[in-house]
Amino acid sequence: MTIPALDLNDGSSIPQLGYGVFKVPADETERAVSEALEIGYRHIDTAAIYGNEEGVGAAIASSGIARDELFITTKLWNDRHHDDEPNKAIAESLDKLGLEKVDLYLVHWPIPAKDDYVHAFAKLVELREAGLTRSIGVSNFLVPHLERVVAETGVTPAVNQIELHPAYQQRDIVDWATAHGVRIESWGPLGQGKYDLFGTPAIADAAASHDVTPAQAVLRWHLQKGFIVFPKSVRPERLRENLDVFGFELTDAEIAAIDALDPLDGSGRVGSHPDEVN
Ligand code: NAD
Repeated sequence: MTIPALDLNDGSSIPQLGYGVFKVPADETERAVSEALEIGYRHIDTAAIYGNEEGVGAAIASSGIARDELFITTKLWNDRHHDDEPNKAIAESLDKLGLEKVDLYLVHWPIPAKDDYVHAFAKLVELREAGLTRSIGVSNFLVPHLERVVAETGVTPAVNQIELHPAYQQRDIVDWATAHGVRIESWGPLGQGKYDLFGTPAIADAAASHDVTPAQAVLRWHLQKGFIVFPKSVRPERLRENLDVFGFELTDAEIAAIDALDPLDGSGRVGSHPDEVN
């Protein structure tokens, strides 16, 4: 199983599909990540706040997989944007992960009320220069946050990781990112199970016509849109199912039908609004 890689704007590349470990309990993480690596996943998305970086690190250490075949992302939490906190936070994450560098380090949320996200991103630029992370990016940034970061640091993030699924497509951010060479990572790619996405005709029909599951049809939609995805599951059969999405292609009409599912009124958002997270 070869997972396609996408180029990033800093010259490195990222496997387009990975495994996200949000809400994977700390004591289950080593097993789940080991299983994912065994099945063929090579890209793991974690965060300091998930409390499971040690489990990710233990699975990496026991996998025997060469470090340069793995792509590991972690994230700077919201209370550590100021002063030299990003330097301390990445050191703690690397220690827990048992790594000398991560492949991608993200500012997890902008927290505009504190107005420290430009400083935090400038610190990430230094961390990249110091070799502690290969690439740097942001998460949950809206267009005005992205514009400020680029204007004030002169550096364009490699990715913006945002909530994105067929019911909530964030087209303004996607358009900005496309114009500026920023890759979009879709979090909650399956709508976190909070919508009946799988029963929606555009998705169910596409799945039936390719003899795949609705989850596979949704993941395929993300991939064909050029988004990076890392669906979460702790069930081995679903880990396999979610990786098995490279043997079929949705038609343009099927993509267009799924594109049409977002009512564009913001009602599809499952998570918090980035301006309201503190
Ligand atoms: P998701 O859309 O991947 O949904 C996960 C849910 O879908 C789980 O309940 C799982 O049981 C179910 N599921 C998984 N595979 C399935 C399948 N094949 N068939 C049916 N159901 C299936 O949502 P998520 O876990 O929130 O998002 C994915 C990853 O994104 C996270 O693990 C995390 O790494 C990242 N994330 C980032 C942020 C952020 O603020 N940056 C926020 C949330 C999640």
